[in-house]
Amino acid sequence: MTDSPHNPTPDAAAQQASGNPDLAYVRDANLHLRPQCEARLAALINVARYHGVEMNLEALRLRPGDQAPNPPELLSWLREAGLWARGLQMNYRQLIKIDAPAPIVLLLDDGGAALLVGRDRTRNLLVLRDPKQPASAAPVLVDELRLKQVWSGACFLIRASRHGTLEEQPFNLGLVARLVWGDRNILRDIAIASITLTALSLVPILIVMQTIGQVLQYNGTATLNLVIILLCVAVLFEAILTWSRKIMEVVLAAKLDARLNLMIFDRLVALPIDFFEREQAGVIAHKISQVNLVRQFLTGKLMNAFIDIFMLIMLLPILFYMSAELAWTVLVAAAMIAAIIAIFLRPMAIMTGKIIMAESAKGSILIESIFGIRTVKALALESTRAAMWDRRVAEVAELHVEESRLANWPMTLTIPLQRYCTYGVIVLGAFIALHTKASFSTSSLFGFMLLGGRVAGPLVSLAGLMDEVHKARAAIGMVGQVLNRTNERHALANGLRPRFEGSIEFNDVTFRYEGAKTPALDKMNFKIPAGTMLGLVGRSGSGKSTVTRLLQGINRDYSGSIRIDGTDMREINLRHIRKNFGMVLQDNFLFRGTVRENIIAGRPGLSFEDAVRAARLAGAEEFIERLPNGYDTFIQEGSPNLSGGQKQRLAIARALISDPKILILDEATSALDPESEALVNANIKRIAAGRTMVIVSHRLSSLLDCNLIMVLDRGCTIDIGTHHELVERCAVYRHLWFQQNRHLAPEGFDDASSQPAVA
Ligand code: ATP
Ligand code: MG
Repeated sequence: MTDSPHNPTPDAAAQQASGNPDLAYVRDANLHLRPQCEARLAALINVARYHGVEMNLEALRLRPGDQAPNPPELLSWLREAGLWARGLQMNYRQLIKIDAPAPIVLLLDDGGAALLVGRDRTRNLLVLRDPKQPASAAPVLVDELRLKQVWSGACFLIRASRHGTLEEQPFNLGLVARLVWGDRNILRDIAIASITLTALSLVPILIVMQTIGQVLQYNGTATLNLVIILLCVAVLFEAILTWSRKIMEVVLAAKLDARLNLMIFDRLVALPIDFFEREQAGVIAHKISQVNLVRQFLTGKLMNAFIDIFMLIMLLPILFYMSAELAWTVLVAAAMIAAIIAIFLRPMAIMTGKIIMAESAKGSILIESIFGIRTVKALALESTRAAMWDRRVAEVAELHVEESRLANWPMTLTIPLQRYCTYGVIVLGAFIALHTKASFSTSSLFGFMLLGGRVAGPLVSLAGLMDEVHKARAAIGMVGQVLNRTNERHALANGLRPRFEGSIEFNDVTFRYEGAKTPALDKMNFKIPAGTMLGLVGRSGSGKSTVTRLLQGINRDYSGSIRIDGTDMREINLRHIRKNFGMVLQDNFLFRGTVRENIIAGRPGLSFEDAVRAARLAGAEEFIERLPNGYDTFIQEGSPNLSGGQKQRLAIARALISDPKILILDEATSALDPESEALVNANIKRIAAGRTMVIVSHRLSSLLDCNLIMVLDRGCTIDIGTHHELVERCAVYRHLWFQQNRHLAPEGFDDASSQPAVA
């Protein structure tokens, strides 16, 4: 039987003329890679396209001088693009046998690659395609011997990411449990160690129980010595086992923590920005931190519960063997303990819920105060904030007291029952022995004393387990509240990755913020060609920032369409959009690190020269060179060692370094002093060369260089044109202009009376 070779690229005839387009794409990128490596990349791009994903070479993060990315780098490149990819060793027989409809990438020993596109099982041959050849070239048939000369087993399996992989599933207890299950080998070892330990801990008791009577009765020193030796061995063994179990537990916990944290961060940053704008940072952080409780539950309490159950299974037969009557009484007492605890579970759960709420409210006050400390100090709000904090602290403390009071009840109520299991049972045994002539040996009574208590313990903790389950569920729920929202993962991984020119078109775009009554943009229409410098003006709240947010894909649930170079933005890969757009806001966040690091901002493949070029273009070079350590000057959190204008120019340099095709400045110069503003504005024209710019500014004078100025009011475009045209024909613009340039205003211009009437 023969699988048909796959030909993922449909228009083969057209491509034959131009060779292999994937290879051409890799070569055009000018990455200075070895030819074999180019072929390997082309092969991966080809298979990715087979699964409907366009790979982006920029995402490969090649460092300058890289000749060939290594397989792990390639795998993470594929995964980041939303594919399922795995590298593994296979042999010829497996390749023949495997039923994979999609091409498999064979990593050749010379650094190149071949695509396995089919099999001729009757003749035991593989059908391969050379990624260096055009898609239309005839595939080659190879046998085992020939393949072995160039390939020693490394291959990549690539699939479209399916729903149902861990990354796609909602965050819940099941998901975490599956993560734990991933380490089932360690779990198994821990379980074996625990069970052995439990059994071992019984051994000394049983030995003592069996021999104590004999030793006392017959004065058997030899027996006693033997007992002592046995006990020592048991204790030694127990110590070693306990030590190794602890190590295994620690390893398991660390692995799980790492995996959980990676997953959580991954999901967190895939959430849309508007989520972070709506929710308090403190609350988000607090909710996320609850995941530790879940981990502790799964690797601690839950595991102990299983060990407890095992303990019961081992103990009960022994007790029943020694005396059925006494064993029953112990069992009944233990059941009563469990019942008492169960009664208190519900109120305790409610109390835990209250405490969690109060704790997060307290946490958010603290974080808000730290984030807003400047405002707190500037407005002398310290005492008000302290009073708020006091109230929250008191509330939490009160709840904790109340909780302890509640938790005290079951603890107190169960004490008599627990004591019965250890001492009472002996008294009862003695009583029964005296009054019914039933024969209880000393050793049985002694054994009951030692073992009875051990039945009660596990039963109590099993009853308490329900409480723990409840807490873990609550914690998972909290984490889920944050993480199980619609995220941008799909849009970040899928979609087209066109080369941008920079023309922008809004068609009937209407957008309403969540919870807002009136739309922020109302059937907005405009169109600008690539390379335009567009100014946006309008009163506060007219929708200028909203336009820039939609352009960045921050808010995506608008109606109508936004087209970049004619392509609907919804079809374009979100990460690609953000990479190709530069954005400078009024207040920009600079990371802790040097000036150079802040400009490069971790973008791959950029060098110091790029940073200097960007800084020069942004007009930042002059002040950077005057800094104590130049480009290596360290910037602190919140950048207190830089002035507003300097920060702003750094932010512009950071936006410019990737040479974005579309650059958005939203009030980027509004907070600057006239001198810094003039400095930035002087560079604007140079910055604008070769790209589309969208500049939002309240100061119309800084928009005079714009090719086009768009006037917004209440979410609509009311006019678009050059400055002179607008002064002529647009009442709103004329009003704003003369308001800001009174010396130019015609006689009789009056702020209050000449408010333009806007439809
Ligand atoms: P300004 O000049 O003051 O920056 P703007 O023109 O940039 O104003 P936008 O920020 O686009 O105005 O706001 C447009 C409308 O949308 C306003 O009515 C505002 O109240 C509302 N709005 C803006 N951001 C949000 C948000 N995150 N959530 C809800 N409503 C918002
Ligand atoms: Mg704004």
